[in-house]
Amino acid sequence: MTSSSIWHPFTQHGLEEPIPLVTGAKGAVLTTADGREVIDAISSWWVTTHGHGHPRIVQAIAEQAQRLDQIIFAGWTHEPAEDVARGLRQIMPARLTRVFFSDSGSTSVEVALKMALGFWLNRSEPRHRIVVMEHSYHGDTIGAMSVGARGAFNRAYEPLLFDVATIPFPSAGNEQATLDALEAACREDAAALIVEPLILGAGGMLIYPAWVLSEMARICARHDVLFIADEVMTAWGRTGTLLACEQAQVVPDILCLSKGLTGGSIPLALTMASEAIWDAHYSQDRAHTFFHSSSYTANPIACAAAAANLAIWREEPVLERVARLAHEQRCQIERLASVPGVHHPRVIGTIAACEIDDGEGAYLSDLGPRLLAFFRERDLLLRPLGNTVYVMPPYCIEQPQIERIYEAIARAARAFSAI
Ligand SMILES: *Cc1c(COP(=O)(O)O)cnc(C)c1O
Repeated sequence: MTSSSIWHPFTQHGLEEPIPLVTGAKGAVLTTADGREVIDAISSWWVTTHGHGHPRIVQAIAEQAQRLDQIIFAGWTHEPAEDVARGLRQIMPARLTRVFFSDSGSTSVEVALKMALGFWLNRSEPRHRIVVMEHSYHGDTIGAMSVGARGAFNRAYEPLLFDVATIPFPSAGNEQATLDALEAACREDAAALIVEPLILGAGGMLIYPAWVLSEMARICARHDVLFIADEVMTAWGRTGTLLACEQAQVVPDILCLSKGLTGGSIPLALTMASEAIWDAHYSQDRAHTFFHSSSYTANPIACAAAAANLAIWREEPVLERVARLAHEQRCQIERLASVPGVHHPRVIGTIAACEIDDGEGAYLSDLGPRLLAFFRERDLLLRPLGNTVYVMPPYCIEQPQIERIYEAIARAARAFSAI
């Protein structure tokens, strides 16, 4: 038993696993109170892009905190938010003309869904069916869970989750089934499709080809179904390009961003929308107002961090760093492929993943926690999804650090598959 009263997320306190006390972070390394230096191989749950404590982001936060800490955003504005909106318009697809701020990836998804339903209602063609992909993850609020995969994580809330149309994941060789299911769902007056482009994150780092995403967008356009891209994980270079959608030449109607939006320093999210979505809410009729807000919408300190992130993207060779890491990941995962116990090695951009098991999946239920402990003992922050081990480091990670991560994974595969 610990003396702390803190209830941690996705943590079963009954198992009494150690909860390290982190005192600092710089680049790709975390420092703990007991003097350990831990490599952050998962970017602190997929948020840290450039590295912890990027000086420009730290400075922007400090300066903004002195100037203006917080202000209501309904009917008021401030320079950091305007900076972010201008910066986004420069680098995001031109079609996404409007920027709505919120606080987390889940909220950006809720906002996207509400925008889609508002769009249809305000055009007096109410539609409410949302099409989703099998194994998707879009967050942990009720709406976000409704459009995500159902399972152990949300069984208690299942009765409250709304109905959706689910299309199968386009696994290799079964892509046409996904497209056919989407076509069928679209014919039944769907309001929108929401999808994680190119890779499903929490669902197990499942990668699918860009041409499938292109086809999905084409089917939605043909049936006037809104295309919502949840790029909360995939944006900001994670898959090798600023947005994953770029690789499929797809521009969504609505785009969800968070995680790397502030370089991973402070919570902020936004939902970008096309002019048609905005137009449907723009009216002299107050009933058409977009009714969504939270207390800290577009917090100035968080916006200053996002503006600094955008400046880093404009002025530093971020995509070169991404390409270097992507190359390193590909080399490492190819080498790992020959290790016994390693299955389905795969990589997209800066994300690499594989499964570890004895080939029969016999340890599925408890392999995850054992792997977690194995990596923790080696001062590595890796957090397998079941028996799926993935590596998603900050872009500043150095070669010897990556090598340490992969040596540990190879050792884990040998150790656990031999049992
Ligand atoms: C993490 C994630 C979310 C939820 O973001 P939070 O900030 O944790 O609420 C939504 N969608 C995707 C694809 C994610 O990876």
